[in-house]
Amino acid sequence: MRINENYLKLKDSYLFSLIAKKVKERATQSDERLIRLGIGDVTLPIVPAVTDAMQRAVAEMGSMSTFKGYGEEQGYSFLRQAICGYYAKKGVTLRDDEVFVSDGAKSDLGNILDIFSVDNSVLIPDPVYPVYVDTNIMAGRNILYVSGNKENGFLPMPEKEIKADIIYLCSPNNPTGAVYNSMQLEEWVNYAVEHDAVILFDSAYEIFIKDGNLPTSIYQIDGAKKCAIEFCSFSKTAGFTGTRCGYTVVPHELVRGGAALNKLWLRRQTTKFNGVPYVVQRGAEAVFTDEGLAQIKDNVAIYLEVARVIADTLTELGIWFTGGRNSPYIWLKCPNDMSSWDFFDYLLDKANVVGTPGAGFGTNGEGYFRLTAFGGMENVIEAMQRFRKLGLGRA
Ligand SMILES: *Cc1c(COP(=O)(O)O)cnc(C)c1O
Repeated sequence: MRINENYLKLKDSYLFSLIAKKVKERATQSDERLIRLGIGDVTLPIVPAVTDAMQRAVAEMGSMSTFKGYGEEQGYSFLRQAICGYYAKKGVTLRDDEVFVSDGAKSDLGNILDIFSVDNSVLIPDPVYPVYVDTNIMAGRNILYVSGNKENGFLPMPEKEIKADIIYLCSPNNPTGAVYNSMQLEEWVNYAVEHDAVILFDSAYEIFIKDGNLPTSIYQIDGAKKCAIEFCSFSKTAGFTGTRCGYTVVPHELVRGGAALNKLWLRRQTTKFNGVPYVVQRGAEAVFTDEGLAQIKDNVAIYLEVARVIADTLTELGIWFTGGRNSPYIWLKCPNDMSSWDFFDYLLDKANVVGTPGAGFGTNGEGYFRLTAFGGMENVIEAMQRFRKLGLGRA
């Protein structure tokens, strides 16, 4: 018997454990309150429209006449139709059997690889959400990288000489907060169609897009249904990181090797996945009611306001950054050419502020640093005061 030796090729994900260790040490050395701007999880609670719906669903489960057993693996049609309704408002027409409900985008982003040959090359932007890289290492796929950097505003574009079969795009991006415009996504769609490639489009942060001209779904781009799968989640949009629900769109028009990927994914899910709890799906459905949408948008507005305070401070200090406008993330260039970890240590030591070293998201993250808007307004205002006192940036 042999193990999957690809697992031995994975790098240890020491990023967050090392941060935790350094923060713990620091806490013993200083009385000043520590401010965490490295949080990669939502902090506002689930809105009442959603918890009310879940409570009603719990009651249904306790009654003989409304009890539910196994559901459809791809999700109840009431939720798939609600998701189609949400897309319709974006000008995207979907059939409900093109939508698959899941327990989250991370699971689907990893699981989707089941339907692709291990011989495919994958193209991954660097810096990146580590799940894209690790799931492909586990499968033993060849990985090519495309560079995000200061010059392209951390929005890498296709390069003619690179031949890739599977392309990961995340917009608004984690960790950089950068957002592709329609023309840029069009270039990616054209590239994918030309190369017979498939784009895996992660739109987990779509609800944070406030600028009306920016695309919130890749299907707003002509031709995308022929080359893209879209992954979204209630995690960041509605505070479901602990509740677990997401959705994946596989259009019928997406055909490769003579097979509709929709059919392959349906077969994969009905075999290996048991669906999301009824109670959670009723909660997710309530997200798309007028009341639910208004409530979650209030929460998003709070996060965006916090992001704006960070962005305004960095602008004032002359520190280069991306994000902070249509995203809860701010990605800044470490002042004075410090390395990511040097800046982490410096900020922790001098200001008792915690962020995330960009180097943890890939080679191109070195020299950069991620702050998040999930830490609360009072904390951020205090943290920005401490930033100013450090005399960073232009000075
Ligand atoms: C948080 C996040 C997700 C969502 O993951 P879930 O599994 O749905 O919680 C997906 N992609 C990115 C880039 C994320 O940051």
